[in-house]
Amino acid sequence: MIKQVGDTPILPVHRASCHCGAVVLELDLPDGIVDPRRCDCSMCRRRGAIAGSVPLAGLRVVQGADALTLYQFNTRTAKHYFCSRCGIYTHHQRRSNPHLYGYNVACLEGVDPFALGPVPTLDGVNHPADRIAGKG
Ligand SMILES: [Zn+2]
Repeated sequence: MIKQVGDTPILPVHRASCHCGAVVLELDLPDGIVDPRRCDCSMCRRRGAIAGSVPLAGLRVVQGADALTLYQFNTRTAKHYFCSRCGIYTHHQRRSNPHLYGYNVACLEGVDPFALGPVPTLDGVNHPADRIAGKG
């Protein structure tokens, strides 16, 4: 867990926003940024974002729910949300654990993702859900 990034402390309730400001999230991060990672699946390798994890109940869309667009592909298990105005990925309901949202660490107010240091990469090409299902 990461409680501070550069000069920015991670607050127990930390706000996040897209680029244009239409979408604002409130995240419960009592343990800071948990499990930040990149992923090399077909979607994430294009998106390039670092995602942290938060329980579903720990993320609230406080502004701009109408601006959010949902994108789904492949098994359509994961729900990827992005701002329809500026195109920035804000959060997604995970496929590897549907009880968690991933969220865009770079959207956290005051957080410079380049100050995070090394971030592990999830092997999304060989997705855990595919291995469980015995395919892929
Ligand atoms: Zn936006």
